[in-house]
Amino acid sequence: MIETDEQKALRAAVSDLGARYGYLDYVLPRARRGEPLTELWREAGRLGFLGVNLPTEYGGGGAGIYELALVQEELAAHGAGLLMVVVSPAICGTIIAGYGTEQQKQTWLPGIADGSKIMAFGITEPDAGSNSHAITTTARRDGEDWLLRGQKVFISGVDQADAVLIVARTEDHATGKLKPALFIVPTDAPGFQATAMAMDIVEPDTQFTLFLDDVRLPADALVGSEDAALMQLFAGLNPERILGAAMAVGMGRYALGAGARYATERTVWKDPIGAHQGVAHPLAQAKIEVELAKAMTQKAAAHYDAGDHMGAAEAANMAKYAAAEASIFALDRAIQTHGGGGLSAEYGLASMLAAARIARIAPVSREMILNFVAMHSLGLPKSY
Ligand SMILES: Cc1cc2nc3c(=O)[nH]c(=O)nc-3n(C[C@H](O)[C@H](O)[C@H](O)COP(=O)(O)OP(=O)(O)OC[C@H]3O[C@@H](n4cnc5c(N)ncnc54)[C@H](O)[C@@H]3O)c2cc1C
Repeated sequence: MIETDEQKALRAAVSDLGARYGYLDYVLPRARRGEPLTELWREAGRLGFLGVNLPTEYGGGGAGIYELALVQEELAAHGAGLLMVVVSPAICGTIIAGYGTEQQKQTWLPGIADGSKIMAFGITEPDAGSNSHAITTTARRDGEDWLLRGQKVFISGVDQADAVLIVARTEDHATGKLKPALFIVPTDAPGFQATAMAMDIVEPDTQFTLFLDDVRLPADALVGSEDAALMQLFAGLNPERILGAAMAVGMGRYALGAGARYATERTVWKDPIGAHQGVAHPLAQAKIEVELAKAMTQKAAAHYDAGDHMGAAEAANMAKYAAAEASIFALDRAIQTHGGGGLSAEYGLASMLAAARIARIAPVSREMILNFVAMHSLGLPKSY
């Protein structure tokens, strides 16, 4: 993938920002305290990095998901990836820019673009999980208003967010069946309750359980059309996977940098440990796998930005799978290269491994990606 001079310049500028914050001095202490990376978020927003994919008429950079993925990768390569970039500009910004009303665009996009507003995204439910067709959060009409009732789990960054884009279901008047619909739910709405979940990962962002107890919403809380929600939802899910992949690729790069540096510096026999092929080859293998995952992430973003949503879906799933596996492998090898130091608090590699492990489960698990590829790419029968 040959990048334009503008894309190269964007990479360099984001990399400078990531280096100024950095993993060991800034991100890791925050992550250990469970505090979000607010200063980095704000500065990235001010510099125009967070809204690079959003339309210029609403304060964005007018570029694509390719550029947003590049931003995420470069930050993550310094250990400073921003989970809420996957959610706020990539999912919510994309859906609102593509399908929101003029009023919703004006209300939300400039703030999402400069980082002054954050929108979380809630689809996962305790009894639905990977089977998002089984969600039961329901919106029913009450006069002009909507009343939203249900429960969500694992919703990231609700404490930082002004609103959550909630995937619910409404009744189809013709068939009586429930169909999906998207609602912008302010986090201070009466009946909206968010409870922090106790997670066993070292990560700056917190996950929440949401209880929606007849949350009353005005008619214009519905995003776009009640009948086109599935299409709207899919429009946001490919960017989510691409951005998740980019974050994992960045973490893989961080791990390789740390591993190669240590292998060059550490000597316990006569040569640095990197001279032993038992140390060098696994790092070289991880490098190849991270680069392959990066190439697939770039392919997915290029297809998405060109409007090829089917091509993007296959590549985005493959990229997310490959990037998760490559980053986990790279971190594991970086830890091994550091010996006992790999598990010490000093290097923070074990903490990053647990955070990288997220990408194997969220936003879509590796098994569900294998199901997708088996069915859609290989034409095998559906197994569930
Ligand atoms: C750190 C973190 C942040 C998250 N942030 C968000 C967020 O902001 N918003 C949001 O909506 N959600 C979020 N999620 C939720 C995430 O998307 C789900 O955890 C994920 O989709 C898996 O759902 P589940 O946990 O219910 O697992 P389950 O669906 O219960 O699956 C459990 C296991 O069974 C496997 N499995 C299930 N069905 C099949 C099948 N048919 N074939 C083969 N294997 C199968 C899965 O792959 C998995 O390994 C987050 C999760 C985490 C961990």
